[in-house]
Amino acid sequence: MKNSEYREKKRIIKVVESADVIVAGGGPAGIAAAVSASREGANVILIEKNGFLTGAHASSHVGTFCGVFYIVNDKIELLVRGFTETILNELRKVGALNEPFRFGKTAVVTYDPLWFKQISEDKVLNSGSSLIYHSRIVDVMIEDDKPCGVIIESKSGREGIRGKIIIDATGDADIVAFAGGDYSKGDNGFLQYPSTNFRIANVNEEKASELSFKDIQEIMKKAVNRKEIDLPRTDGFLFKTPRYGERVCNVTTVSKQGKIIDGTNKFDLTYAEIEGKRQARKYEKVFRKYLPGFENIFIEDTGETGIRETRIIEGMYKLKNQDVINAKKFNDAVVRSAWPIEQHSLDEVKMVWIGEGDFYEVPFRCLIPRNIENLLVAGRCVSAEQEAQSSVRVAAQCFAFGEAAGIASVMAIEQNTSPSKLNGEEIRRRLIQKNGNL
Ligand SMILES: Cc1cc2nc3c(=O)[nH]c(=O)nc-3n(C[C@H](O)[C@H](O)[C@H](O)COP(=O)(O)OP(=O)(O)OC[C@H]3O[C@@H](n4cnc5c(N)ncnc54)[C@H](O)[C@@H]3O)c2cc1C
Repeated sequence: MKNSEYREKKRIIKVVESADVIVAGGGPAGIAAAVSASREGANVILIEKNGFLTGAHASSHVGTFCGVFYIVNDKIELLVRGFTETILNELRKVGALNEPFRFGKTAVVTYDPLWFKQISEDKVLNSGSSLIYHSRIVDVMIEDDKPCGVIIESKSGREGIRGKIIIDATGDADIVAFAGGDYSKGDNGFLQYPSTNFRIANVNEEKASELSFKDIQEIMKKAVNRKEIDLPRTDGFLFKTPRYGERVCNVTTVSKQGKIIDGTNKFDLTYAEIEGKRQARKYEKVFRKYLPGFENIFIEDTGETGIRETRIIEGMYKLKNQDVINAKKFNDAVVRSAWPIEQHSLDEVKMVWIGEGDFYEVPFRCLIPRNIENLLVAGRCVSAEQEAQSSVRVAAQCFAFGEAAGIASVMAIEQNTSPSKLNGEEIRRRLIQKNGNL
């Protein structure tokens, strides 16, 4: 055997749990999937590598919910119902949600991240789902050529968990990749660039209240044009959170000296973590110096570098960029969205807006990986072309994907069939029955 290789010893692992439905990953998609499948009567286990739920929203300081609203007759209206609406209502009840505000041709809303984590945990546990933290799924169990569970690694070692249906809500399509499913990574080698979001505190709200997004962007641009500081991006946003004097800053663009970061490569990720923190300090300097009311701010913390795109599954339908632009509707639609294309490249964030009062839909088939049974996908890795993915990856749609996948998983078990054989129009009907609309 070569020096660069090592043969691990073969082992039989213990199967420590079993469930009807395994939900892999506890971001917005996973949370909604677990609650939805449990509510439909399934025995559900949600497995998460971290010690908290909400995925990138907690680990990468995302800070806002996008994709929830659309604009009708110049008014902000709720577009996505169901689980999204439930989470918003629960956050509002405890004073952890700001009022939504206009953002281009749609609207966004900010929230308190700790409350989001706690409410999500309560929702999952109260639905009857089991929760296993600190366990990374490292492989799938296969019997009769079909996934029949997952292999986890934790401080207890390597163990198996059996499940009839697996919902891949890992964001990176880990389960599809482990199962040998088809996926793409990037468009002709281009992956959207990540950002290291960070939170700042101690803003003097009285002095800062007059500053618009545009004002702040202009100040950043001027500092760069004067060659005073080298900021990788000047079109980012500082969002006011429900905590007094706090902003969540989505302003950085992380690259490997201009080259893309592959969010499934540990060396790229390591580089990104180091680079992202350095970038945050540069912005802190500019904000302190030039933004009125920001003189005494400090960075509370940076998030892990937030990855927008890695593996995207090849599903039974691939959402097209044109479907988004043309606000296309589908008979088997399970999700709708008015969020624009928001494609992060090195030099710009390309935004393509959908007409006010309109939205596009996503068919159920985007959640079904081709050629693998017993598996559904929910969240930012559903089947879509790149620009379409850059729109559909945001929170409200990920909640909605999860909710649809949860219902579909139970229907597949009830009908003793694989998700690929389900009738998407029936899932749509069930969702509308439950939520009044999608
Ligand atoms: C920088 C940045 C800014 C963003 N800003 C916004 C915004 O302002 N508003 C908005 O709505 N959206 C925003 N987004 C999009 C955001 O990613 C989505 O809203 C959402 O988090 C995607 O949900 P998800 O459930 O698909 O994946 P994730 O949130 O990525 O969750 C996946 C979960 O799976 C877990 N996991 C992964 N692999 C494994 C494994 N092998 N085993 C066990 N667990 C695993 C992870 O730990 C994680 O908890 C932003 C994204 C980035 C990167």
